[in-house]
Amino acid sequence: MNKEELAKWARMILDNERHKTWKFVADRHIGGGGICLGDTKTIIIDPDALTFGLILHEIAHIKKSRLRCKDDLTGHSGIFADEFTRLVNKY
Ligand SMILES: [Zn+2]
Repeated sequence: MNKEELAKWARMILDNERHKTWKFVADRHIGGGGICLGDTKTIIIDPDALTFGLILHEIAHIKKSRLRCKDDLTGHSGIFADEFTRLVNKY
């Protein structure tokens, strides 16, 4: 699957998971990896780092951003891990 197909796949999952108001943006300026921004409902991923795993990782952060858990600075809590595992099993 090429990068364009991966971006379409990411859009399909956002829609399928009822995150239709979220957008997916590929941007090299973030310098590797990805980030999930709850304020603007945007997932930014460096296209050079685009993989199935990274897409699901960032989408799993959406559930976390809704819960607004403040005591977990990285966002990689048990709640995140459970959501990531659910997405991996589903897709
Ligand atoms: Zn993360």
